[in-house]
Amino acid sequence: MTHWPWLILITVYGACVGSFLNVVIHRVPQGRSLLRPPSSCPRCGHRLAWYDNVPVLGWLWLRGRCRYCRVPISVQYPLIEALAAALFAGVYWLDYLSGWRKDFQQAGLGATWPALIVQLALVGGLLAATVIDARLYLIPLRIPYTVILLGLLILPTAAAFMPAIRPVTPVVGPAAVATAAGSVIGLALALLLLRMKLLPRSFDELEHQLNQPEPPDAFLSHPHPRAEVLKECLFLLLPLAGALGGYWFGSGIVAGPATEPLAGSVLGGMVFGYLVGGALVWAVRILGTLAFGREAMGLGDVHLLAAIGAVMGWLDAVFVFFIAPFLGLAGAVAAKGITRVLKGQERVIPYGPYLAGAAVLVMAAHQLLRQIFGILQV
Ligand SMILES: [Zn+2]
Repeated sequence: MTHWPWLILITVYGACVGSFLNVVIHRVPQGRSLLRPPSSCPRCGHRLAWYDNVPVLGWLWLRGRCRYCRVPISVQYPLIEALAAALFAGVYWLDYLSGWRKDFQQAGLGATWPALIVQLALVGGLLAATVIDARLYLIPLRIPYTVILLGLLILPTAAAFMPAIRPVTPVVGPAAVATAAGSVIGLALALLLLRMKLLPRSFDELEHQLNQPEPPDAFLSHPHPRAEVLKECLFLLLPLAGALGGYWFGSGIVAGPATEPLAGSVLGGMVFGYLVGGALVWAVRILGTLAFGREAMGLGDVHLLAAIGAVMGWLDAVFVFFIAPFLGLAGAVAAKGITRVLKGQERVIPYGPYLAGAAVLVMAAHQLLRQIFGILQV
């Protein structure tokens, strides 16, 4: 099969997605709509014509200035578009041409294209999260949520109609499915209790002060990070109990000798990957906050690794979790010099970009990592 037409198509698609990501990067942190109003010059308010909006080329054609008032347009726009185009082409090359992903290559584009679409959505989401986190030290939850929702809609549906896609989806066996189901039930109960105000909300200082003019317990009611994450521990008790119960129940289910994955196991594998990814970062957040007495890792990071786990599977989420700190350390050293890092003078560093970078690395090294660790199927 000839790959050139597809590579060109995916590159153009990537540039267009990059154009959309520019809108995401500027509007989502402010909670603005992505659809309205259409993009216009921030100074003169003129709307951009379709030919000025063509990714990369529009900016080059205008030489980086507004057509009407000549105000400079940030070079970030064409850079994000070019980067998205290169990343999308790179993912296609990785899956079908590099030989690093035999799972995709052997099944072929015709059998795996829905998984490619979800992979590209994840990469796009990671790019947007990286830029926003590096600028504002936050990850809007709409980004991981959108990736997860898209994945949940596409992958299990595709697996139902195209069995050949299963090897490139996060398929898991019955024990993991039952563990995931138990956690989800526990999570739903905990969220219900939170909503009914039977569980305390963490980092909700303002509401706390309004509702309790005279705090009864000095430690727990003080707006103190350690006390706040203890509330999160309380919240996590139910999902944890659900996971243990589910595992106990699920490990009793004996799969047949020629283990055929359960019908719902792609969905189960996505939910399981989501939970493993989220749990890993949340555990670090709790332990780190308890140890250092200041809020460690945002909930945005929790949801970002959860999205990575949902799309790439639980094992890849574990790999990402252990590789990201090394990237973070390398990034901090490169940016500030080794002596300042060793002296602990670094500011709060955004963690999202390193999770995103590690996810792309693990996507490429998916097969290699399994060979190294001798893990074939879980
Ligand atoms: Zn203008």
